[in-house]
Amino acid sequence: MEENKKGRLVVLSGPAGAGKGKVLEVLFSKRRDYKYSVSATTRNPRFGEKDGVNYFFITMEQFEKDIQAGNMLEYAEYCNNYYGTPKKYVDQQIEAGINVVLEIEVIGAMQIKKKYPSAVLIFLTPPDFKTLEERLRGRATESEEVIRNRLMRARDEIILASKYDYIITNYDNKENKAADDIISVVRAHRLRAIEQEDLSEKILKSI
Ligand code: 5GP
Repeated sequence: MEENKKGRLVVLSGPAGAGKGKVLEVLFSKRRDYKYSVSATTRNPRFGEKDGVNYFFITMEQFEKDIQAGNMLEYAEYCNNYYGTPKKYVDQQIEAGINVVLEIEVIGAMQIKKKYPSAVLIFLTPPDFKTLEERLRGRATESEEVIRNRLMRARDEIILASKYDYIITNYDNKENKAADDIISVVRAHRLRAIEQEDLSEKILKSI
């Protein structure tokens, strides 16, 4: 008997400094059945960011049109800008059996949880605050003010971790383990009884 071959929505949230980027890099290098959903945003590109790779950079007017047209799977306002997940790509990939990773903040994550109960919501966290601070300072690209701001925001975000299905800790230099943990929880989520409600009926029919 075949398992349901559709892909899953995998939501990954976590504060800046949790190491989402590195963990996802490892995940995508290990597994071709996981893909990244490129979000749309109205914020300006940062240095080095590419349209269509990091984000689809669009105007406020276009974003609002997309919301009206139902083109966004979820969206949220964050620091005076819109961020949202284009629906079409996600639908296509899910149909093709790909697990689509949405790297989004908590408001969007909760919209996904409500609309798509079979989505897997994962919160990636650093082992402790000291590590988070070291990682943010280690980037050395941001001013003290920006770092302090991000640390304060991280505190607020970590409190919301309990709203997620799974919490994965990303220890220093253990991105490989965190990526394996993501693969494990997505697999476990897929095998939940609720995902296979029609199984007993099918088995009994085959007697
Ligand atoms: P940044 O401006 O630093 O790239 O992203 C700011 C926040 O927006 C991050 O927490 C990021 O995860 C979140 N974000 C990025 N794309 C989306 C999206 O499509 N939807 C939602 N809800 N949040 C997003």
